[in-house]
Amino acid sequence: MANKKVVVLPGDDAAPEGMNATMEVLRAMRLSIDFDEFPPGERWVRGETDAKARAAIDNSDTTLFGSTSGKTTSIGYLRWGKQTYANVRPTRYLKGFRSPLARPEGIDYLIVRENLEDLYLGLEGPLGDLAPLQLKSRILRGPLDTSRRGIYAIKVITEAATRRVVEFACQLAMKRKRAGGKGKVTVTSKYNMLHESDGLFRKVAEETVATHPEITYEQFIVDDFARRVVASPHDLDVVVLPNLYGDILSDAAAGTIGGLGVAPSGCYGDNYAYFESVHGTAPDIMGMGIINPTASMLAAAMMLEYLGLKSEAARLDDAIRKVYAEGRALTPDQGGKSGTIDFARAVIDAL
Ligand code: ATP
Repeated sequence: MANKKVVVLPGDDAAPEGMNATMEVLRAMRLSIDFDEFPPGERWVRGETDAKARAAIDNSDTTLFGSTSGKTTSIGYLRWGKQTYANVRPTRYLKGFRSPLARPEGIDYLIVRENLEDLYLGLEGPLGDLAPLQLKSRILRGPLDTSRRGIYAIKVITEAATRRVVEFACQLAMKRKRAGGKGKVTVTSKYNMLHESDGLFRKVAEETVATHPEITYEQFIVDDFARRVVASPHDLDVVVLPNLYGDILSDAAAGTIGGLGVAPSGCYGDNYAYFESVHGTAPDIMGMGIINPTASMLAAAMMLEYLGLKSEAARLDDAIRKVYAEGRALTPDQGGKSGTIDFARAVIDAL
């Protein structure tokens, strides 16, 4: 069988340090993968490198991505170019993670965040630009005053994008059910205030889940859901939600199990997927050698699973689990004193 091809984009600020540790581990695993490794964002010759990265992405099976603060530009291509519409963010507690909860054991659910629309389309501008539209506010029961200095932002929820991401969530719930999971999809948005947009998300989600009678449907208004993330995370199985809420609440969810250092993510489309941590580029700890690479390593394990290398994915997952269970070589965010590379070495030992 031909080797898989993986593009590695280490990202910006402290992200390359986490990626470097992850690559040490992946190399030690001697996988049947050819890695096409790019330099960190700040060393890119803009334009030229971006074009090269796009060509490499087109020629690959998947991409392993560090976070970007804007210098690594191919994120737009990975997301909108490759239509990776389902951002899957597992919230899974492993023994040894530094959770602030009294009983985090058994927390294990997936957040599926719609990845391509909602408020993240860059549709913002001066309020005055809306004047020709003569918008009437349902809440104010009158026209919107566009004469004030201010900015608008546009939120877009489409039926097709909602349907496909909810269907993706349903497929995940069914897969988890076959492995003993709850078989439940929880839908959340602010449908009580945003009747039209979030209301559409809720309605399409309910219809889509109803086509799978083996799945239980559950819905919560997003503020109530935020409380549940903290108060009853054990009840959750697969959660699907629009882009902005997903971005915010998955950070909160990460906080319940041990923080951003241990939260991985994968962005899936119908023909491509890429993998990254939930966290950003952690610029405040750049160059200190202490960024926790667990999120990036767990994202790499998700990537191995996507590539069909299931036993290798389990091997990496088990090694990380073992290091935490023994409380060895933990980084400062987990209460340890070790550096990024020490953690990677402990994982390699445990492999
Ligand atoms: P973005 O908007 O790009 O997601 P963010 O605002 O969520 O970024 P992060 O870069 O994720 O910000 O960092 C938030 C805080 O968490 C920072 O103090 C950072 O140092 C810390 N942090 C993030 N990731 C890690 C990690 N892997 N290990 C240790 N600390 C981290």
